[in-house]
Amino acid sequence: MTEMLIKAREDKYAVGAFNILDYNSMKVVVETAQELQSPVIVQTSEKTVSFWGFDPIVSWVKELTQNTTVPVAIHLDHCKDLSFIQSCINAGWSSVMIDASSKPFEENIRLSQQVVKMAKPHGISVEAELGEIGGIEDDMIIKEEDVHLASAKKAKIFLEKVKVDCFAPAIGTSHGIYKGEPKIAFERLKEISQLSDTPLALHGGTGLSEAVFKKCIQLGCAKVNISTQLKYAFIDGFLYYHQANPKEYNPLAVLQAQYSALKIAVAENILLFGSNQRA
Ligand SMILES: [Zn+2]
Repeated sequence: MTEMLIKAREDKYAVGAFNILDYNSMKVVVETAQELQSPVIVQTSEKTVSFWGFDPIVSWVKELTQNTTVPVAIHLDHCKDLSFIQSCINAGWSSVMIDASSKPFEENIRLSQQVVKMAKPHGISVEAELGEIGGIEDDMIIKEEDVHLASAKKAKIFLEKVKVDCFAPAIGTSHGIYKGEPKIAFERLKEISQLSDTPLALHGGTGLSEAVFKKCIQLGCAKVNISTQLKYAFIDGFLYYHQANPKEYNPLAVLQAQYSALKIAVAENILLFGSNQRA
């Protein structure tokens, strides 16, 4: 993931990190990236990994990337459990995120350093978070009043002490669906971006406007996470097909409908982030 993000930050585009749910959705992500000649990040939540198991997910990636020519990374999203992260490293993930952002600052630094130590010898990239991103991620719910933007002063210390490959500062985005216009702290993002060349990650991508994406990408966000939009496409793709064909009961047609709905979402984001023809 490191190489693709360094390149993206330099050339001011972003690589989409798409949260997959199963083999079919992973297939969509890999095949759409290949078609659009885009680097891509297949992203897995801890819950999805627990549901399927470590080895099946890695075997899907291997199978799906056998004939691809575009760079594909497999990344573990928000995780605070170091033994879980270790299991992903052992199983073959190419990138992991340690999210110790809910811990006191010093402990966040210490835990993130520890993950860098675990990952680096294997050539695996590490993303870490500072501040608190709002909304729901797996079972963690951060209420709006508890959202803390990453402080630029702390970000400076963090980036000096922890050699991460990707840094996720909280800048006012939220996971899930936005109620009203999100307030993005562009000035803060700019300050943090100027501290180093480390590619930044933009969480809570679903529902942000084209203008917001473009501005964040200009300011150094090289990785954009898309999860909620894919959850909707996954379920609505199924539902709408069944509603339109209530008597059909052809599971493969339903999977195809899900595939098509997901593909529209993935392609739209790749084009929006400008990573097409960058592989
Ligand atoms: Zn996130």
